[in-house]
Amino acid sequence: MQPQESTAIHYIQFHQAHITDDEIKEVIDSLRSGWLTMGPKTVKFEEAFANYVKSPYAVAVNSCTAAMHLALKAIGLSAGDEVIVPALTFIATSEVVSYFNAQPVLVDVERDTHNMDVAAVERAITGKTRAIIPVHYGGQPCDLDELHELGKRYNLHIIEDAAHALPSYYKGKIIGSLGDLTCFSFYATKTLTTGEGGMVCTANPEWAEAVKVLRLHGITRDAWKRYAKGGSWFYEVVESGFKYNMTDVQAGLGVAQLRKVDWMLARRAEIARTYTQAFCSREELLVPYIKPDRQTAWHLYPLKLNLETLKIDRNQFIEQLIDYGIGIGVHFIPLYYHPYFQKNFDYHPRDFINSEWIYQRVVSLPIYPDMTEADTSQVINIIFDIIQKHKR
Ligand SMILES: *Cc1c(COP(=O)(O)O)cnc(C)c1O
Repeated sequence: MQPQESTAIHYIQFHQAHITDDEIKEVIDSLRSGWLTMGPKTVKFEEAFANYVKSPYAVAVNSCTAAMHLALKAIGLSAGDEVIVPALTFIATSEVVSYFNAQPVLVDVERDTHNMDVAAVERAITGKTRAIIPVHYGGQPCDLDELHELGKRYNLHIIEDAAHALPSYYKGKIIGSLGDLTCFSFYATKTLTTGEGGMVCTANPEWAEAVKVLRLHGITRDAWKRYAKGGSWFYEVVESGFKYNMTDVQAGLGVAQLRKVDWMLARRAEIARTYTQAFCSREELLVPYIKPDRQTAWHLYPLKLNLETLKIDRNQFIEQLIDYGIGIGVHFIPLYYHPYFQKNFDYHPRDFINSEWIYQRVVSLPIYPDMTEADTSQVINIIFDIIQKHKR
């Protein structure tokens, strides 16, 4: 099908980072300081971040994947242990478990929120289970009270994959202040970006210290100061660590982005409201469901198709969106479909009926602060055009 002249005004990207003179100034400030790797700007970002998410400790690393890896190190995960993760997530959530030769145990999600189903989690617990990694899908917090209750009952740690959840609120409390260890992502498409980056938040001083040591070769904390004025040349390696530190160039972006994180949320929430108002009355479409006691960061706007009312499937719907110049994403291809999983694990789609149901229907629409009203209207009009043409 050819896009219509009237609607195909310009290409709307799936995501675009909000970068202004603030970010540029902070990065230049890091560059002019002459100190480019982890240093004072990273410390400043960590302090501001800890304060923002009301977490006693925040330790910056170079990705959320690294954050989750070190969080699992901090709790002492070992080979042969099991960690429960949702089937509908990004590979990083389970990859970090595999680093230990431990077993990622996939569970199904809820149809409405796309979040880990607590009943499925409980059924998956065995004598080998050590931790649960809930993913706050799209930014909507998981059922944390119920998960913490399971954690207490079975002696498990809860490590939140909060890659989508800055800022998100569960029963009025901000994500980052609630878990054993909470891991954030500052990847290029996330709600706050440093290009690449991540953060581990915890209230436990021993875990915070472990993460600090492990992110820089296992050498005693603040070893980066050894080249700074007043720093000491002496350091000791106390553990076999990793090269996972953030840099002050990245932290410059982080410091600037954090100052506008509430404004960026307000912009995304406005776009989400506009989408939902437009789509909620159409029987061909299912809008996101947010539980009443939580607030999403609106990292994603996952729209689902009511396939029974349409002559096209989700993939054909996506092809049309792309033809019309709309960037989209699919969150996520269930983990068990990846060749790596099929080769190494024995999971079957039939055991994940909700993940299957969502995967057949879902598409993530563009949602970011720099989208204009015209962009949002264009997305809505094009979707209306497509469903009008292909409804049963
Ligand atoms: C983006 C993402 C990650 C990985 O974040 P990185 O910072 O790129 O390592 C992990 N989990 C989920 C759910 C994500 O969307």
